[in-house]
Amino acid sequence: MAEATSRGIGPVILLGSPGAGKGTQAKLIVERYRIPQISTGDLLRENVQRGTPLGLLAKDVMARGELVPDDLMYDMVAQRLRQVDCERGFILDGFPRNPAQAGWLDAFLEHEFFGNAQRDRCLPIVIRIDVDYNKLLRRITGRRSCPVCGRIYNVYSQPPHVADRCDVDGSTLVTREDDREEVIRERLAAYEQQTKPVAEYYARKGRLVSVDGDLPVNEVTEQIFRVIEGQHAGATGNN
Ligand code: AMP
Repeated sequence: MAEATSRGIGPVILLGSPGAGKGTQAKLIVERYRIPQISTGDLLRENVQRGTPLGLLAKDVMARGELVPDDLMYDMVAQRLRQVDCERGFILDGFPRNPAQAGWLDAFLEHEFFGNAQRDRCLPIVIRIDVDYNKLLRRITGRRSCPVCGRIYNVYSQPPHVADRCDVDGSTLVTREDDREEVIRERLAAYEQQTKPVAEYYARKGRLVSVDGDLPVNEVTEQIFRVIEGQHAGATGNN
């Protein structure tokens, strides 16, 4: 396994609805393969904060929850992927968001990224974490947190000893505003609508791999590592 962590693994694209455990798994991939996680949402927020020309253009669009125009995204993503820490691979989080961005990424990798002899020619591995819709709804709507110490509970899978009270300090537990069922249903529908065409783009190219996100976290991680290491073995040629 040590070999798997020292060589390049190429781009990894993680798809998964809110609550599917994408954040947790991304962190574990970063630790194991020592590649950066590139979140386009974070990069944009940084630009907004620094007041860059891109930030000024993106600010209102983001506040409305709409997508930033593709052309602006391409410059920003290209600049980031040219940095030296991406040479062995990277995880993309939040990009591509539509098939046009997926096509741009393929072209960028082909014409620029793989042009550098230092880099293995690995096509993106696209991993979708699938979770049963109703289980997901319970997972998110069951979440409660302590407003004082921040500890997280779940009324279904990890309840506190006394209902609605924090085990540590006895505070009344709260539900995050965006974890409420109405909001969640909307977020899940929006995710589905946005991501489906991207998943279909990669499925058509035979590059979409689904993992079962209903399994315990460590088993999901194992599946993901297996996909990454298995795909790499077969992805350095001309495919
Ligand atoms: P996120 O943190 O991924 O939810 O992104 C926050 C916001 O940044 C989104 O609502 C969009 O306005 C913008 N954004 C992030 N990634 C992209 C992308 N790939 N294409 C267009 N807009 C994006």
